[in-house]
Formats: sequence, structure tokens, C-alpha cells
Amino acid sequence: MSHELPALPYAYDALEPHIDEATMRIHHDKHHAGYTAKLNDAIKDTKFACTPLAVMLSGLDRIPEDIRGAIRNNGGGYVNHSLFWDTLSPDGGGEPTGNLATEIDAAFGCFADFKEKFNTAAATRFGSGWAWLVLKDCSSLVVYSTPNQDSPFITGDTPLLGLDVWEHAYYLKYQNRRPDYIEAFWNVVNWARVSERLVGARTDLDMTSY
Ligand code: MN
Repeated sequence: MSHELPALPYAYDALEPHIDEATMRIHHDKHHAGYTAKLNDAIKDTKFACTPLAVMLSGLDRIPEDIRGAIRNNGGGYVNHSLFWDTLSPDGGGEPTGNLATEIDAAFGCFADFKEKFNTAAATRFGSGWAWLVLKDCSSLVVYSTPNQDSPFITGDTPLLGLDVWEHAYYLKYQNRRPDYIEAFWNVVNWARVSERLVGARTDLDMTSY
């Protein structure tokens, strides 16, 4: 079994003007495709060919050393980008509702404070990486950033919402203005999907979806 590059759930230009078409084409068709191909190459003909990525990433110390780095980087890149496309939408933006809103308020005080914390995580990640909203220990919502393509699954957390802050994610349109890209991101967040992911994380469905 090999992992397939998921199709974007919207057109390449659907997130304009917040995320531009040229960036989406290169990001999905080249970068995400590249992680997918390298991941498949690493696990081909190994006993991990059918192991869910969330399982592999949360137990990296049990992966043979010769493919551990490839799983961490390319497996991480695969799941991170799969989640990223899935939690964006041309009809996104605004604020979460329902249970997710209640839990964000409980964890961070209010939506504005959550957003500020997430923005700081995204802006202060030195070099390449991601900002995350995760479910920790199946109980609490937490914000942090990770370097490179490190997935929250590595530390046993379930990613709910992620923002790619590698330069390849924004440089064509925003150049060095990462804060402008971060602010634009909020206009295309698919809160309905993030809510579904929170429910899935609690019922473990998420752990098998990759
Ligand atoms: Mn990326």
C-alpha cells in the first residue's frame, strides 16, 4: 500500500486573494507530492508499508534507524499538508461555533487570545515549521509550533489546525512579510472541519485517517 497525494478539495485559485494560485500549485503539486513520493519510497518493501502514519510518528523510536528520518520528515510532511488543505476553505474564516468555541474559550480565555497565541507561535518559529492547535492527552487544547515537518503526532498529540510557515508556503505572494500571511490565513480557516477533527480526535477516528 502506498500513500496517495490527496486532491485539493477546492480549485487552486479558490483561496485567492489570501493564498495565491501559483503558491497553491507549487505547494500541492511539487512540495506535497515530493513528500508523498519520498515517504512511499522509504516504506516500500518494509513491514511499515501498511502502518498508519499517526502510529509510526507517535512511535518513532520503534522505527528502524535507516528509515526513521525519512518517516519523520516525509511522513510528517505528508500528514501536515494533508491536514492543511483539509482545514482551509474559500468559505472559511470567522470564528468557530458550538463545542469547539466553548473549548477554545475554556483553554485560552477567548477567541482573540487564542488567535494571538497562535499568531505568536507562527511568527516566532525561527526558520521552517508549523504553528498548531492540538488536542493533548485527549483532553486539553494547546497551541505550539514545531520545526521542519515535525508532526504533533510525534509527541502523541492530535493536530486539529495547522499553519505552514515554511517560506515555500508564502514567499511568492508575501516575500518576507510572514505576519501578513498569518493574518490572511484566518480568512480561509474551515472551522467546521476543525470541529469535526476535534470530535474525531476524541473518538480515535483521526488516528487511522492517515
Ligand atoms: Mn509546505
